Amino acid sequence: MPRHHQVVVRPRIATHSTVLPLLFGCLLVSCSRPEAADDDGLWQRERQAMVDVLRQGGIEDPRVLAAMGKVRRHVYIPPSFRKHGAAYGDHPWPIGHDQTISQPFIVAYMTQKLGPVAGGKVLEIGTGSGYQAAVLAELGARVYTIEIIPQLAEHARRALAAEGYADAVHVLAGDGYKGWPAHAPFDAIIVTCAPEEIPQALVDQLKEGGRMILPLGSTRESQRLVILKKVGGKAQQTEDLPVRFVPMVKGKGR
Ligand code: SAH
Repeated sequence: MPRHHQVVVRPRIATHSTVLPLLFGCLLVSCSRPEAADDDGLWQRERQAMVDVLRQGGIEDPRVLAAMGKVRRHVYIPPSFRKHGAAYGDHPWPIGHDQTISQPFIVAYMTQKLGPVAGGKVLEIGTGSGYQAAVLAELGARVYTIEIIPQLAEHARRALAAEGYADAVHVLAGDGYKGWPAHAPFDAIIVTCAPEEIPQALVDQLKEGGRMILPLGSTRESQRLVILKKVGGKAQQTEDLPVRFVPMVKGKGR
């Protein structure tokens, strides 16, 4: 029973039909209310509660839990969508342009599956809010991230710089299907939008022994996380959980 974008199927997760009215209701509220007061103590308590939920949900890697306890998720949500009680909830949340910041559990799960990234070069396709990139940077990765919607790329770039990640994270506005050859090869690649097939350019830009994690599927109903390891120049892939991500948009010129 997968629900709206970027959701891992877990027993305690609400269904598609229960989430849509919730998101809609919150959007109405956020339009009629100014940005919630920037009470750092309250955000911090909400962030700690989120980490407790992740731990209870099975996230075990202490480095991932520490990074998620440190990165200020709410600042990656544009002010008009930012809201106490929701920014740290275990669900995706709107960030404008019909896109969402991923559910905290899926961010933690994919980051954990990617393995240690400290000191490595990581390519992310689908910057969105910039939150996943910040978590990877907090873990010590040098992050190269590509977003196809220019306004989101710009928002993420600013938020990441304001949070001190300007040197660690490089944001490119463009089509991530082709990867970022100028900075290849990458130790790891994380894709947060779903292509119909694994983009060969990304496999080519992965280091020997490197790992890639991506949601794969031609329809939202059929998507699964795929974990790929490059061994002897070839991709070895394993299927993981069913998920729902936004499709990878086909950019101009392909
Ligand atoms: N990782 C993000 C959430 C990603 S939502 C976060 O932490 O907030 C998926 C994003 O992928 C959307 O912002 C969407 O615009 C972007 N996207 C879709 N197709 C793309 C493509 N071909 N290249 C780059 N980004 C793409």
